[in-house]
Amino acid sequence: MAHINPNFKKLPGSYLFSEIAQRTEAYRTAHPEARLIKMGIGDVTLPLVPSVIEAMHEAVDDLSRAESFHGYGPEQGYAFLRDAIVEHDFAARGIDIASDEVFVSDGAKSDCGNIVDLLDIDNVIAVCDPVYPVYVDSNAMAGRAGDYDVEAGRWTRIHYMPTTAENGFCPELPETPVDVIYLCSPNNPTGTVLSFEQLKRWVDYANEHDALIMFDAAYERFIVEKDVPHSIYEVEGAKRCAIEFRSFSKTAGFTGARCGYTVVPKELVRDGVSLRDLWNRRQCTKFNGASYVIQRGAAAIYTPQGEREIEQSLAYYRANAETIRTGLSEAGYQVYGAVSSPYAWVKTPDDMGSWDFFDQLLDRANVITTPGAGFGPSGEGYVRLTAFGNAEDTAEAVRRITQM
Ligand code: PLP
Repeated sequence: MAHINPNFKKLPGSYLFSEIAQRTEAYRTAHPEARLIKMGIGDVTLPLVPSVIEAMHEAVDDLSRAESFHGYGPEQGYAFLRDAIVEHDFAARGIDIASDEVFVSDGAKSDCGNIVDLLDIDNVIAVCDPVYPVYVDSNAMAGRAGDYDVEAGRWTRIHYMPTTAENGFCPELPETPVDVIYLCSPNNPTGTVLSFEQLKRWVDYANEHDALIMFDAAYERFIVEKDVPHSIYEVEGAKRCAIEFRSFSKTAGFTGARCGYTVVPKELVRDGVSLRDLWNRRQCTKFNGASYVIQRGAAAIYTPQGEREIEQSLAYYRANAETIRTGLSEAGYQVYGAVSSPYAWVKTPDDMGSWDFFDQLLDRANVITTPGAGFGPSGEGYVRLTAFGNAEDTAEAVRRITQM
């Protein structure tokens, strides 16, 4: 008799977005005339840039001819893309990463989820709270999270590190030992960033305790502040303790096209084993490489023209973020993030619960946001607004909220 992985039975429903959809639908039904503006979406809205489209078209043509056809590619990604990544994302910043430490994939979500294959079942996992749910759920599926406490909204074996305005959105170093630490900068959902000094404290902690840092830099291209590392490998010693995840989704509109990459440095060794070699083994066994067409498209963002074009899209989202940040701040709201990030993390007024504030914004401003409580217990008292919508709607949403 086959038995299922019992850990799946412990998973709570993915409550957040279905609850948002339900409340929105109920409101729409009661108020069919309302023009609702979605400020909760985490997906991009601008199309892929011309350089990427052109490269993809050419790649499709390659596949149409026997002499340029590509079948299975390297599991780790094509050299043309890995070399471009190394040159532009790392060497250009003075970071020494080799092509064979870069693993191209179909996106950061898969890699963040799959990386747990490398971890021992007894590892203690530390996550920031609020948190991008993939880090927690993937460990829960593997049986590393204990049981889900519905009342508290947390797993019994996960070490939650409050990441709130009170600690400047940088979690405190843990007082009890942890083995694996997930950090995300620029952060989803808070939109805040870790400075060099803050990140260095974590790198030093990890090296001191032989812990492992999973560093999610999916929003790296949004960084505009000077003192903010674009890669954890800018911090001395990080290659001995950290894996870094990157994504083309928000960088270049690849949420539908799907492409990202993960860096596992050769120096990263635990239990006498190279994690780079383990990840290579895992990928070669379970993954047959990202699509050739998509990798050609991704490589196009590293050409001078491609770079200029994606910068235009990023500038558009940054301007939206600025509209949200300045508009709501001027109206007296406490707004965090939205400088080096497409996310604004807004404190609810008068300590209102985040679902109550969500309802109020829906009802009185016809604006849909994401309640912070959906990202973890410490997200209570905040809502997240995103800058991925169109500029007119963003300005209109801010105007409505400020007039509320
Ligand atoms: N990491 C973070 C922090 C994210 O917010 C997201 C997407 O929203 C991802 C990873 C997933 O990226 P991808 O589209 O490359 O799977």
